[in-house]
Amino acid sequence: MENILLLAHTETDGTLAKPALEALTAALALGGELTIGLVGATVQPAAGQVANAGAVRILAVCGDAFAAPRYATDAAAAEALARASGAALVLAPSTSRWARAIPGAAFRLNGRVDTHATNLAIRNEVPAVSRWFYRQRMEAVLTRAQRPWFVLLDAGCCEPWSGEPGAATVELLPLEVPATRTTVTGVQSPKAGEQTIRPDAKLLFVAGAGWTKKQSDGAVHGAEAEGLIRGFLRAANASLGSSKSLVDMSGEGEAVLNFMSHLNQIGQTGATPRHAKGLSTCCHGEEPHVVGWRFITQRRAVNLDANCGWARGKADVLYVADAFAVMRAVNRLMA
Ligand SMILES: Cc1cc2nc3c(=O)[nH]c(=O)nc-3n(C[C@H](O)[C@H](O)[C@H](O)COP(=O)(O)OP(=O)(O)OC[C@H]3O[C@@H](n4cnc5c(N)ncnc54)[C@H](O)[C@@H]3O)c2cc1C
Repeated sequence: MENILLLAHTETDGTLAKPALEALTAALALGGELTIGLVGATVQPAAGQVANAGAVRILAVCGDAFAAPRYATDAAAAEALARASGAALVLAPSTSRWARAIPGAAFRLNGRVDTHATNLAIRNEVPAVSRWFYRQRMEAVLTRAQRPWFVLLDAGCCEPWSGEPGAATVELLPLEVPATRTTVTGVQSPKAGEQTIRPDAKLLFVAGAGWTKKQSDGAVHGAEAEGLIRGFLRAANASLGSSKSLVDMSGEGEAVLNFMSHLNQIGQTGATPRHAKGLSTCCHGEEPHVVGWRFITQRRAVNLDANCGWARGKADVLYVADAFAVMRAVNRLMA
């Protein structure tokens, strides 16, 4: 098996987050000689975290210039680590930071890159990447002859590595900070209020446009919809998804559900999250929406319409019922 470099950037506290540990699991499963390459302001806590993972070397590019995500510094660090390791395969978690910098680093090494991989495993005695095409509709398994081969592994596809921490020796690479045009002045979170996107939640709760439509009494019940949805999210610690119709309405200021943004959108033009269970409410189950449910293991939906998309093989269970009544009862049970 070829030599592998696992590239990981540290968090603000110098440790590795879950996506990096998931990529470590994938790297170890390949079986080649493993080098770990760390990037960040400080890397010693991260090195300690993975000290017992069995890497032959832990290399690092470290310093204040490498603390914040920035293409110029991240690509330079990835390039230096890949060159120093001499690895044929370079695996990195598909964080927004690496997704931006790794393709450039691959180009500088005359390598190739595959993004959004969901698996990297030996097939027919060579490493092969699995990835989905056409917005998660078709899965392909592909190999490449070109080296170095960079692979960005999507989060949630492997169990995070969880060995005992230990003492690690880190080889620091001297790297001149490249010229930068970007100054990172701070971090702006998309939402000041309640956190509704929880990638690690067991359950994805999806709210569709039906919550904002006139109900059987001829009136819209926005305030109650908001209370029911928020109440359920808190009680179940669920992540909140939405259909495009609903987030578009929120964006256009028709907001009934003001905690909803385009970041919550699931589907063809939205996200494809990974959760063990999904419950869709007041959403019709159209293909462009449902395609975002590709990686939800158990899917259920509540809709008034027995002929909605969910009834056509898109859900495991469809409750033909009024979501207001159902969620009122569910929230009561959970309290
Ligand atoms: C190229 C393209 C890309 C797209 N990408 C996306 C995407 O990424 N994500 C996405 O979501 N959509 C996407 N769409 C749009 C998608 O096709 C649907 O139009 C959209 O998802 C519909 O949203 P909805 O089901 O919330 O709303 P509607 O279609 O308005 O459905 C509302 C549903 O609520 C039900 N309802 C109403 N009241 C109640 C009640 N009290 N209890 C239970 N049920 C009730 C109704 O029966 C109805 O089925 C895309 C479309 C195109 C063409």
